[in-house]
Amino acid sequence: MQRHMVDAGLGTQALWAGEQGKMLERATQVPIVQSVSFGYDDLDQWLQVALSREPGHIYSRNTNPTVAALEEKVRILEGAEAATSMASGMAAISNTLFCLLRPGDRLVAIKDTYGGTNQLLREFLPHIGVRACLCDTTDYGQIEAEINQGCRILYLETPTNPTLKILDIKRLAGRAHRVGATVVTDNTFATPVNQHPLELGSDLVVHSLSKYMGGHADALGGIVCGHRELIQQIFHYREITGAALDPFAAYLLLRGIKTLALRIERQNENAMKVAEFLENHPAVAKVFYPGLRSHPQHEIASKQMKGGFGGMLSFVLRGGYAAVKQLLPKLKFAHRAANLGAVETIVGPPATTSHVEVSAADRAAMGIPEALVRYSSGIEDVKDLIADLAQALDQLVEA
Ligand SMILES: *Cc1c(COP(=O)(O)O)cnc(C)c1O
Repeated sequence: MQRHMVDAGLGTQALWAGEQGKMLERATQVPIVQSVSFGYDDLDQWLQVALSREPGHIYSRNTNPTVAALEEKVRILEGAEAATSMASGMAAISNTLFCLLRPGDRLVAIKDTYGGTNQLLREFLPHIGVRACLCDTTDYGQIEAEINQGCRILYLETPTNPTLKILDIKRLAGRAHRVGATVVTDNTFATPVNQHPLELGSDLVVHSLSKYMGGHADALGGIVCGHRELIQQIFHYREITGAALDPFAAYLLLRGIKTLALRIERQNENAMKVAEFLENHPAVAKVFYPGLRSHPQHEIASKQMKGGFGGMLSFVLRGGYAAVKQLLPKLKFAHRAANLGAVETIVGPPATTSHVEVSAADRAAMGIPEALVRYSSGIEDVKDLIADLAQALDQLVEA
């Protein structure tokens, strides 16, 4: 174990972790090893590598040097024993759950998980005879009662998408461990700069690397980090399901992660200032941001989010969905798109972003207002973001 890397700050780890092996022809950057397989003249050596008795690579669906560098970087950032990557965030989540669950198992989760995750829990887990109990995200009585009935997995996500609710990971993980459950936390919104679920008691952390980790909206990827024995099982499952990350995507993600700490610090600051501005604007009915004192779980957020409160926020317009349709095209410094966590600001309503897989009736039942705007603050100069929102919102008030 490289002590100096473990002891280094997160900004240093983001640059150096996973990149200290021997590179091709003394390159200082991790090469893109765009090769399906790896050749061996010595059959004995080939066999030793195939049996994992010697380090090396056989076939890129299983392991690949570029992908391995990325896994090592994120492993260190999350402070995990092991990590295995996947083709996307949803691949990481689905492979983790299908690997660990058996017919008859129960899974306890919250209603506010990412739309794709919600669909996986409700539509596909029943196919393997697993019942998912989806609790009200802020009702600890209900969540703890469901955990106490026994469950194989407690699945958490905090802050949630798109209304930025905060779950107390430490409290719920403690409960889940009493009944022998494995705790899985989606850390996509917070990133390891702001929150370390493994330190708070989670057994596994999953990420969509497509968002903040990559940061440039140019590559899909996912990863799961945690205890070695669990990751070994999930890695083995993924070898067979084939949800492997492509080496080129791994290269883009490695490159993006180098600036993770800088980007997230800026995004934390920008989101906070934008949230404060919106909270005082007459066209805005409500702002959801865990950094605001008005946020109902601000105290828990302050305790468990060590770096900051993240770059995501959302707000409700007084003018309803009609106002959302008017507002979004007026913004000059924002993509109107389904993703989040990129260097550019991105906006969209839940109906076309986080909860596109969910029906309007279900969104209403989940407490997601149709007049909600999800706002992923980029790294622009915050004065420009605020001026842009001001000109667009002022036109609403005048109309
Ligand atoms: C985007 C996202 C996912 C899914 O990730 P993909 O890379 O798009 O498959 C999962 N969880 C959260 C919180 C997300 O924002």
